[in-house]
Amino acid sequence: MTKLGRELASKGINVISLSVGEPDFNTPDNVKDAAKKALDENYTRYSPVPGYPELRQAIVNKLKNENGLVYEPSQIVVSTGAKQSLSNVILTLINPGDEVIIPTPYWVSYSEMVVLAEGKSVFIDTDIDSDFKITPEQLEAAITPRTKLFMFSSPCNPTGSVYSKDELAALVKVFEKYPNIFILSDEIYEHINFVDKHESIAQFESVRERVIIVNGFSKAFAMTGWRLGYIAANKEIAAANDKLQGQTTSGTCSIAQRAGITAYHDGLESVNEMKEAFLRRRQLVYDLLNDIPGVKTNLPEGAFYFFPEISSFFGKKDANGNVIKDSSDLALYLLNEGHVATVGGDSFGNNNYIRLSYAASDEALKEALRRIKEALGKLS
Ligand code: PLP
Repeated sequence: MTKLGRELASKGINVISLSVGEPDFNTPDNVKDAAKKALDENYTRYSPVPGYPELRQAIVNKLKNENGLVYEPSQIVVSTGAKQSLSNVILTLINPGDEVIIPTPYWVSYSEMVVLAEGKSVFIDTDIDSDFKITPEQLEAAITPRTKLFMFSSPCNPTGSVYSKDELAALVKVFEKYPNIFILSDEIYEHINFVDKHESIAQFESVRERVIIVNGFSKAFAMTGWRLGYIAANKEIAAANDKLQGQTTSGTCSIAQRAGITAYHDGLESVNEMKEAFLRRRQLVYDLLNDIPGVKTNLPEGAFYFFPEISSFFGKKDANGNVIKDSSDLALYLLNEGHVATVGGDSFGNNNYIRLSYAASDEALKEALRRIKEALGKLS
């Protein structure tokens, strides 16, 4: 959709993109300055495969101070983004035929990474009425003797849903019965959380050894292009990730790593400013979505996405008689008719929805939602 949107835009059409998953802010100045300094200080050579010791220590400090989690630097492996970390974990843990439980909707790459490892994804479906969260009963029903891994994101892309401590505790009760299952906790949206403080499933001692936290700098510090992420895991898994990475990408960009040290060292002031803007936009989009007949939405508790249900439009026709059959058709229709780029929910494993990113200016959001309402109103 982003690509199609750009194609239309290159023809001079004013397209508003609500399809991309990145903050619309610039990287904070203190982080950029650290990168410039790193260049001047000649941090331009190969870095250690799992990251500079100072960065791994900064991550350890962050986990202790912000999350109350105690790790050693040897348990941290820095990578070229949370995406590589997810891929490293899956490739090192999953053998052909192993099952990976993934609640839907899920971030697009999860299931494809499982395919690359020749594993099998086992999906647990959720919907808007359960706020897109699974129950302990659903989790237990999905477990088989072949289950190796459970993976999820909280705050979630694409729904923005956030698991509370109690909800995580209820899932942990199930995992306690199955000691061979690892838990991959994707916490990349940790800091864009509108409910209280972030809760990591790694806080539960009974499963802690089996939890692999994936996190990074892309979303919190608006550093998507810098490619900087990491895992925190038990030493064996960390060593395996280090080994795999050593034969693939090696250590990530030296300059990005030095900037990451500053980002974690200097604290969350810039992050909180971005969060304030996201909070305001969330309310704006929520009100505008609620004003569109046929669209059902919830109020996401984190990230910067809405995942409204739009299945009431399936079966309807556009002015040319084309039938909207699924969420991709609807996203395409909104792009062609309203010039707004969104993403069909089928990309995330739930066809009845579309994903809208509100990482855009207030003006762009108001205009985009006006266009969406108008375009949907034309379907008959
Ligand atoms: N995990 C989720 C849920 C994401 O939405 C994204 C990016 O969109 C990533 C991981 C990848 O983040 P990174 O830019 O650090 O690779």
